Amino acid sequence: MDADAPDAAPTKADKTTSSAALRVTNEPYNGTRELRRDDRRYSGFVTVADVFGRPMRDLRISVTDRCNFRCVYCMPKEVFGRDYRFLERRELLTFEEIERLAHAFVAHGVEKIRITGGEPLVRRDLERLIERLASIDGLDLTLTTNGSLLPQKAQALRDAGLARVTVSLDSLDDETFRAMNDVDFPVERVLAGIDAAAAAGLPVKVNMVVKRGVNDDAILPMAREFRKRGHILRFIEYMDVGHSNGWRMDDVVPAAEIVATIDAELPVEPVEPNYRGEVARRWRYKDGAGEIGVIASVTQPFCGDCTRARLSAEGRLYTCLFAVRGHDLRALVRGGASDEALQEEIGRLWTRRGDRYSELRSAKTIGLPRVEMSYIGG
Ligand code: SAM
Ligand code: SF4
Ligand code: SF4
Repeated sequence: MDADAPDAAPTKADKTTSSAALRVTNEPYNGTRELRRDDRRYSGFVTVADVFGRPMRDLRISVTDRCNFRCVYCMPKEVFGRDYRFLERRELLTFEEIERLAHAFVAHGVEKIRITGGEPLVRRDLERLIERLASIDGLDLTLTTNGSLLPQKAQALRDAGLARVTVSLDSLDDETFRAMNDVDFPVERVLAGIDAAAAAGLPVKVNMVVKRGVNDDAILPMAREFRKRGHILRFIEYMDVGHSNGWRMDDVVPAAEIVATIDAELPVEPVEPNYRGEVARRWRYKDGAGEIGVIASVTQPFCGDCTRARLSAEGRLYTCLFAVRGHDLRALVRGGASDEALQEEIGRLWTRRGDRYSELRSAKTIGLPRVEMSYIGG
């Protein structure tokens, strides 16, 4: 498929995409943040909308395709073994290049940047990148990690300006967790990472991918534990990302079932989203002991509100988690493009975006090629 072509060929009038009523023109930025930040690099802040009228609000930046875990649903050992060709250092965007691109995205209305990977904390001196990005005025800067290196890194990340952190943990049962990360990593050390982040002053959320028959018995123990610890726990439906995890619909535990399981012991009620396009549906404990989130990407797709762009570690822009190919921004950066030219190209690519894979998911889409989660960053 042509890298510039939308994954599907929807029309602007398509009624299944709920945000079709939004403006489709480039207009002065009019979002939730202050109109003009103290950033003079770009003359005009414009918000771009794609073919469904969805603006660009979030950017996920992958800083490496490498990881010290081999989670069975993400980087199965049989595929990501000794012979796997990871990106070479020279292929990765440098921190300067990432910063430059981040400015160009922010100029189009991006309000939130999430650093991810692979495992972002295996990238050396990551706090230096955080420092650079934290200096972009008004940006919500966060990071997703498996938590293994947080004991060493949390304070430096906080000092560099990171606002919050999301830690992935799939079970409190050591045997189950070790089987899922497949590198024999103990639960206790992830919990130590969570504690280190909290002690450094970083608000923590916890992500749990639920796979039927593997860790669905961990739903309640995880809910009890993180309610007690005061961190928001978010349950993620197992997705058909990449093509190496052998995904089957039968492996998915639907969000509704997850909520019902919790509700039976710890009654919950729905909460309004914090903002339009929030991916996790929020539920709060009726006894006031905090809240949980569920990310129902498979059973309740949210493409209509999807405002996410993704930048791979080698500088390719993906306009959907399930896109086949990305657009090479590194070539522009290394080819001497001006800031304005970079900004223009990003805007051009976004206005042509017509992705809505999850809404179209069917038996036919399962076999289609797509990038790996560890490459694009989730
Ligand atoms: N290594 C970091 C981590 O695990 O948090 C960041 C990258 S990881 C690809 C980002 C998130 O994607 C994690 O929360 C992970 O659990 C989730 N993830 C990976 N594969 C998934 C899949 N097949 N379905 C749903 N979530 C998945
Ligand atoms: Fe690594 Fe995160 Fe993928 Fe697990 S989910 S293999 S920790 S990138
Ligand atoms: Fe966004 Fe996911 Fe839908 Fe792609 S499939 S448009 S990433 S919500």
